[in-house]
Amino acid sequence: MKTVSSLLDEDWYARYKKISKLNIRSSIYDVTNRCNLRCRGCFFFSSGEHKVAKEENDIRKWETFIDKEMERGVNLAILIGGEPTLCPDRVEAFYKRLPTFCASNGLIKLPRDRFPDLMVGISLWGNGEDEKILRGKDTFAVSSKNYEGDKHTYYLYTITPRQIGQTGKIIRKIRDAGLKVHFQLLSNDEGVDGFFWKEEELRDIRSEMDDMLDKYPDTVISSKYYHEIICTGKMLDRPFGWQECPSVTEPLDSRNPKPKRLIHFIRWASDLKTMHRCCTSETRDCSTCKDGAAHMSWVMVNKRAHMRSAKDLQNWIEIYEMFAKLYQFIPW
Ligand code: SF4
Ligand code: SF4
Repeated sequence: MKTVSSLLDEDWYARYKKISKLNIRSSIYDVTNRCNLRCRGCFFFSSGEHKVAKEENDIRKWETFIDKEMERGVNLAILIGGEPTLCPDRVEAFYKRLPTFCASNGLIKLPRDRFPDLMVGISLWGNGEDEKILRGKDTFAVSSKNYEGDKHTYYLYTITPRQIGQTGKIIRKIRDAGLKVHFQLLSNDEGVDGFFWKEEELRDIRSEMDDMLDKYPDTVISSKYYHEIICTGKMLDRPFGWQECPSVTEPLDSRNPKPKRLIHFIRWASDLKTMHRCCTSETRDCSTCKDGAAHMSWVMVNKRAHMRSAKDLQNWIEIYEMFAKLYQFIPW
């Protein structure tokens, strides 16, 4: 029988031991239904998720709710929205209690005296021109000033087909601002012309991302196996989609047979009562979903399937390490 220790040499086994202790139990929280942008392709607004629940405004109710989430076993809170920085008291209620990650468009700076080591992931959708088309604003110009040199911040760079051949310029700007970057691919939920992926474009961007990781290993937080998974939509020859997705809200998951999934995962709406179907858009077609975190988690929950060879298990370890870095469970 293949075991982890029989597949790995000493160095890889030491890396494996570090992450195998983590036992991460995440859930996702819509901190608010409001945002100071309205990006074309934002899964939250395009699927009408901002209208399904009335925002809870009483901070004490948030605090009680978070305590109950911790009793449920959650040890990583992922804050999204809307724009969480519009509600710093709610962000603080999470941050004071448990490991917390805050997604943001970076236009409002979270004060570091109040949130010294909160991990902030800033969304970026390409160069200034693409950002103006899709988001109405060149957000990088503002966010890179707000967070320059910040040790607890990275860019979540959503790559669009128009970025092929352009990523190096952006990555160098991020490096020069003293920040890190992680990639995902645009799912184009609002069908903006010119932003759909074609097969050959996915091949091109995969090799470009590999190249960027080789050239800028201190700036890019990624792995080549992750690039393969998000660009092909396949893991060990299994296609990604509804039947395989690990990031479905557990109480709403009626799939049969049940795939390997995130234990106790829930995505909560901002009324603290309503649950959304999954980590991303309620209305997205799963066969075209390119959500990076869902693909990453898909690999992570399928360790056993990666124990068919040393290379497969090493790929699994690299993706787990990448996730652990992005959520501050291990250093960059
Ligand atoms: S900044 Fe984020 S939440 Fe706000 S509209 Fe854009 S994608 Fe949506
Ligand atoms: S849209 Fe994506 S994240 Fe949501 S259930 Fe479908 S595959 Fe999973």
